[in-house]
Amino acid sequence: MPDNTPFRTTTRHMLKESKTYASQTLMGGLSGFESPIGLDRRDRITALKTGDIGFVHSWDINTSVDGPGTRMTVFMSGCPLRCQYCQNPDTWKMRDGQPVYLDAMIKKVARYADLFKATHGGITFSGGESMMQPAFVSRVFRAAKEMGVHTCLDTSGFLNKNYTDEMIDDIDLCLLDVKSGDEETYHEVTGGLLQPTIDFGRRLAKAGKKIWVRFVLVPGLTSSEENVENVARICESFGDAVEHVDVLGFHQLGRPKWHELRIPYPLEDQKGPSAALKKRVVEQFESHGLTVY
Ligand code: SF4
Repeated sequence: MPDNTPFRTTTRHMLKESKTYASQTLMGGLSGFESPIGLDRRDRITALKTGDIGFVHSWDINTSVDGPGTRMTVFMSGCPLRCQYCQNPDTWKMRDGQPVYLDAMIKKVARYADLFKATHGGITFSGGESMMQPAFVSRVFRAAKEMGVHTCLDTSGFLNKNYTDEMIDDIDLCLLDVKSGDEETYHEVTGGLLQPTIDFGRRLAKAGKKIWVRFVLVPGLTSSEENVENVARICESFGDAVEHVDVLGFHQLGRPKWHELRIPYPLEDQKGPSAALKKRVVEQFESHGLTVY
């Protein structure tokens, strides 16, 4: 890869302030992967379907951001949603990612396997939408489980029909974005449908998997009491599977990317939540017996 490969220093979904995240990040971009060359379009489509290659935006090693312990987070390219608050619109198109061989990705996991085990960490697939390339992701997860490495899928669940129950078996933890609590608001926020998220949460719960719910709080967009109440009820319906809910305050760290890509940014002048609003929302979740971070 050329030396100017972008180094990823911001998280998706506003989990952490970017400076904090950068200080926890050891390396990344797409360094260390040899890309397939000489594959024509048809070969690539076939290899994508079988999972022999995956289109990757970037990867990094971080601590306690995308799951427990020290983790390798791989940001896959491609996303079917168009969230108004997306921090990484540069991940939307799969073709903008870099094709990476499955074997190369598995070797990378193996290289850090001891570190993951020592820190109770592991591998996280994020995006973009991690479920857009189910064969690649689930084959890496299978290999990780064979090495005894913890696996985590960061997803909206929108494409959960791409995942068989067998694939779900290899997911230890899911970071599930519940972006809103009713179809109308969800569609306004993402352009997509809410029901697949609920369906996936239920499938995970039924399979005995752990869920960390993520909810992005945008004043005036996702903040109404009714919307938060509906999100909390959805979390409740997943039962004991939900270990906690992350209430993530909206911020503007993603704005420069929208400008660079010349995509009209709907939240140009949007402010983040006040401390009082965040407190109200946290208390609403807590009143449903949920642990909130
Ligand atoms: S689901 Fe897709 S559009 Fe929404 S925040 Fe994530 S990457 Fe961006």
